[in-house]
Amino acid sequence: MSATTVAPWIAAQTQTLLAQKGHAWLLVGPSGLGQYRLALALVCAWLCEQPTEQGACGVCGSCHAIEVRTHADLCVLMPETVALELGWPLSEKAQGEIDAKTRKPSKEIRVDAMRDAVEFSQRTSARGRGKAVLVFPAERMNHVTANALLKTLEEPPGDVKFVLASDAAHQLLPTIRSRCLAHTMVWPALDTSLAWLQQQGLDGRQAAVMLRACGGRPDDALLLAQAGPSGPTPASWVKLPNAMARGDVSGLKDWTPTQAVDALQKLCHDLLAVKAGAAPRFFDALDLPAGSSLATLTAWAKALAAAVRTVEHPFNSGLMLEALVSQAQNAINAKN
Ligand SMILES: [Zn+2]
Repeated sequence: MSATTVAPWIAAQTQTLLAQKGHAWLLVGPSGLGQYRLALALVCAWLCEQPTEQGACGVCGSCHAIEVRTHADLCVLMPETVALELGWPLSEKAQGEIDAKTRKPSKEIRVDAMRDAVEFSQRTSARGRGKAVLVFPAERMNHVTANALLKTLEEPPGDVKFVLASDAAHQLLPTIRSRCLAHTMVWPALDTSLAWLQQQGLDGRQAAVMLRACGGRPDDALLLAQAGPSGPTPASWVKLPNAMARGDVSGLKDWTPTQAVDALQKLCHDLLAVKAGAAPRFFDALDLPAGSSLATLTAWAKALAAAVRTVEHPFNSGLMLEALVSQAQNAINAKN
């Protein structure tokens, strides 16, 4: 990871955490604020051959080994789906099973991977600068894997440090939480986020709309902008509220039902906020239709919350989108 790509709020937090003693950190807070990048910056600094107060040097053998995902003293513990997304290699056995299609990549942190991590922490450091275990997202450990990690956290064998990152820390075992020093992720200022998004290649308007669509979370905004033409784009996001008021499904054509429900929940939230006299968060006030009564909007919010639970496996996503849009149109235009 080269220094130039580190967002300023991640760099500042890296420095704060490095200045404190601790062998196990738990990074908590909502997703999209750069938890994974902060966790990675920490392990890079711990293992770096010439670290400074700011963190890893970015050029030594250790930094390079992390960059190419082959550091012998770093164990990355993730659900297989996340590891594949972020470009971390799976164990030979796991990759073999997935290649042979005997099973799909796991969405949880598997017991096999945890066993490897426990063995890893008992080995001697290969490069002589200690070892590090990065767990992300930590709430994807089930009770078995969490308990296996707990023992290692309680009595770390030798020179191993841990960083766990979670956007749902309340789901972690209390005993895991109590073994770690907690750090709450810092929200970057609006103009800092906008400047960073523009450095990543977004234009000004794209950065502003996507950041708003993601409730001010810059990492989520970048992912959304990079996701391409399927799903929300700046143009479709801005038009969404009025398209829903007209019952126009075409705006959601390439969206997954999950993306649609998420967007509708944000729209419903903003209409409720405006009704209650507060500022909208996800859409520009100028792009919002008037909306119906608080009672109707509240009922819509409940219906959307119920839809979240079934949306991952709709029997027909086209029909589901149509039903969602029709529900939205009714809720926005209801006379009472
Ligand atoms: Zn280095």
